[in-house]
Amino acid sequence: MSGEIREECGVFAVAGHPRAVELCYYGLYALQHRGQESAGIAWRQGGRLRVHKGMGLVSDVFPPERVVSMNGDMALGHVRYSTTGESRIENAQPLLVKMWRGQFALAHNGNLTNAALLRRELEREGSIFQTTSDSEVIPHLVAKSGEKELLGALQSAFEKVCGAYSLIALTPHGLIAAKDPRGFRPLCLGELDGAYVVSSETCGLDAVGAEFIREIDPGETVEVLLPREGEDARPSIRTVAGPKSERQALCVFEFIYFARPDSDIYGLNVHRARKRLGRVLAKKGPVEADLVMGVPDSSLSAASGFAEEAGIPFETGLVKNRYIGRTFISPEQSLRELAVKIKLNPLRSLLKDKRVVLVDDSIVRGTTSRYIVGLLRSAGAKEVHVRISSPPYKYPCYYGIDTSSKGELAAASQTVEEIREAIGADSLVFLDMGDLQDILGTAIDGFCYSCFAGDYPVPVEGWPKEDELNDLF
Ligand code: AMP
Repeated sequence: MSGEIREECGVFAVAGHPRAVELCYYGLYALQHRGQESAGIAWRQGGRLRVHKGMGLVSDVFPPERVVSMNGDMALGHVRYSTTGESRIENAQPLLVKMWRGQFALAHNGNLTNAALLRRELEREGSIFQTTSDSEVIPHLVAKSGEKELLGALQSAFEKVCGAYSLIALTPHGLIAAKDPRGFRPLCLGELDGAYVVSSETCGLDAVGAEFIREIDPGETVEVLLPREGEDARPSIRTVAGPKSERQALCVFEFIYFARPDSDIYGLNVHRARKRLGRVLAKKGPVEADLVMGVPDSSLSAASGFAEEAGIPFETGLVKNRYIGRTFISPEQSLRELAVKIKLNPLRSLLKDKRVVLVDDSIVRGTTSRYIVGLLRSAGAKEVHVRISSPPYKYPCYYGIDTSSKGELAAASQTVEEIREAIGADSLVFLDMGDLQDILGTAIDGFCYSCFAGDYPVPVEGWPKEDELNDLF
């Protein structure tokens, strides 16, 4: 399966705080929405790096008794997204390796579009890979670099890799955070009690009470230097700006689906941005209805904006059980359906005989919309009008969101009318690219819209075909 190289993740780190591990653990909790497949923390204890990681949610991997046994003043955490591909403990991050430079831990969010090619080259030169993750090429490139300092070695690795990386590296001496020249994935810097905190999203900073300093710039590398253990000094930072020539390509899908509503990216709040999308959608696809509802949780902000603009009551038509971790998935279809029912239940007395506007943030394969329209109808809804707060998702993402191959994308081969029919809705309206650019593109300069428009900012020609990936990894 190719799933393992298409992933969205969350990264979090603390440098120079006596409770670094505990803070990192809370930070990962706040970033759990970015990945539920595996979680891990690497930390410095007694001058050495250690790592603990496992499959599942942060709460599965780190029971409290485990966290209290992990003491250190630097910690680096990672949550990995569950994809359709095989999930393996070897691919859980942070990756911790030992090389001639000493210990090196890495947590990476994004996809390296030339990882397969680099890996092939490195393997020919004698490198032995331990994982099937694209991220592993980075420690190999760092190990091979002749640069004296780690910062220089990492930068020479960055010259070779293409694609998306918002990453954090940890050594026994300090921490380095970096973003690729396009800045596909968010990554921000904060401060807490004189210590530095790095997080995929600002909600991670909020969770530990850190003050937001700024978003790391595309192409920028930030190094946090720690005093030697026992030395009474504060950590310091130095930053190295990246090449300025390339245009930022922040993933627009972070605003549509991925990021948490309480996060801000470049000062733009995700909830407020989604509400704006919902408002414009209401103007674009007006409909007479009794209530507006969203698919919990990612669509609720857009749905509330739609309802406000349309002047139709915003209702809770579906109740989501928030206490479900990893559900046991039965191979038997009837039981599998039961497992889904535990997660989402329609409010029958509210929906009966009602004309419903169902707002969702996206249609990727169309599975969710089809399922939920059916659920609302079986609960008695008279009409179901689906409104999507993004344009038709037509092109696969190569920079870190799991959208699999083009063949699986509903809008790649179907018209809006065909999708409407397939999901069983009474009407269906999407936003279009122009709307999205007007709403978000004026607030932040430089988005990647490739999943909607197909214009990939970093070439993907080197991307191997699905069957080639099986041989490579
Ligand atoms: P689909 O069911 O394949 O059409 O996916 C669309 C639904 O899944 C929407 O309800 C989205 O909120 C959600 N969604 C969109 N992108 C992703 C993603 N990369 N991973 C998981 N869920 C997603």
